[in-house]
Amino acid sequence: MPRRIPLRSRVLATALGIGLLFLVLRFLPGPPPPAVDPVHPTVRVRLAGWSGRERVPLRIRGRYRILGLEGEEVLWEGAEYRGAIRGGAAGPRLTGLDPLRPAFRIAPEGDAALRLDADWYRGELVVDGRGRRGGELAPRLELYLDLPLEDYVLGVVCGEMAAGAAGAAAALRAQAIAARSWALWELRRGRPFLNDDARDQRFLGVDFETLQAREAVAATEGRVLVWDGELLHAYFHADCGGGTADAWSLEFSREELPPLAGVSDPGCAEDWPWEKEIPAAELDRLARDFELGAWLRRVRASQRDRFGRVLRVLLAGEFATRSLGGEALRRILDLPSTLWLDLEALADGGLRVTGRGRGHGVGLCQEGALRRSRAGASAGEILAHYYPGAEIVLLGEHPGLLRP
Ligand SMILES: [Zn+2]
Repeated sequence: MPRRIPLRSRVLATALGIGLLFLVLRFLPGPPPPAVDPVHPTVRVRLAGWSGRERVPLRIRGRYRILGLEGEEVLWEGAEYRGAIRGGAAGPRLTGLDPLRPAFRIAPEGDAALRLDADWYRGELVVDGRGRRGGELAPRLELYLDLPLEDYVLGVVCGEMAAGAAGAAAALRAQAIAARSWALWELRRGRPFLNDDARDQRFLGVDFETLQAREAVAATEGRVLVWDGELLHAYFHADCGGGTADAWSLEFSREELPPLAGVSDPGCAEDWPWEKEIPAAELDRLARDFELGAWLRRVRASQRDRFGRVLRVLLAGEFATRSLGGEALRRILDLPSTLWLDLEALADGGLRVTGRGRGHGVGLCQEGALRRSRAGASAGEILAHYYPGAEIVLLGEHPGLLRP
């Protein structure tokens, strides 16, 4: 006869078990990243806009399977699903189906596709509802797509450029090669996923795809930029304002890289300048955050590159002075670029900044690429201008590029 365990011990054991479960869930790492296939890589994209919610409407057109996170086990098979994914303390679930696992993947079969609320997506949906964000067991969802590299690049070309613009064919091809190279550089260094917003590369679903973008991705399939035998971290930005930035000066690279050293782009110098007013209160906060006193006396560009881009600024506060990178200040003050033409102190203590260009300025300039494309340049010529010295190679012929 089994020995009876006293009630108090059982309660204690249960409490310990719950505590242990809480600890395990809290410190559980995110879903393991897909292995990087050297020739046909898969990209995991975090759907930032859909993540963090408790409920996301889901529709699946066609047949689908629900699999364990690694695809190792079939948990459910069906066709034509309409419902929602919900977070829950016991893990996420699909309405109408039994709870599955703390994390699982939904794999549409063949031509099947899935829709989150109003947006259709390609690829497999990874649902992680372990709710460990912020250290709390909140019923929040984290949603990712696992996509073949080329499908991912297509979503980025449509997210990052005017993919339907006239005369954009060569610019879109150049963008596809740059985006592919940038993503693989990030994955190779062990990133578990890429965000679908400006933190990484903006990625859009099927509804935003254009014929031109599909053509650009197909025509450049597997092509990447390489420098000195390594993948190039092919940064790009919206508009350089007259010349691109040196990645090394901006601390975007650990060494001086000739393809990312900055090039002249005179056409962009004629683009309309922007103007932004920074209220006095925001400058005061900056002074306090950097322990310079209660207010800022002066903001001065102390170092510029050959195109006028501000590399360093001097913040003179009530008591102290501090030097800061121009790019860092751009991010703090949410300015369109660091190519500031004028910094004008306003009577109310605020600051008016006039500038040119949009984005960090490193690598390919999208506005300039579009202009060159319309003037008849090829994708190869566009890339050779913005990444001088970089080579375009086929991933399939250089599988070693993806080895860490
Ligand atoms: Zn430009």
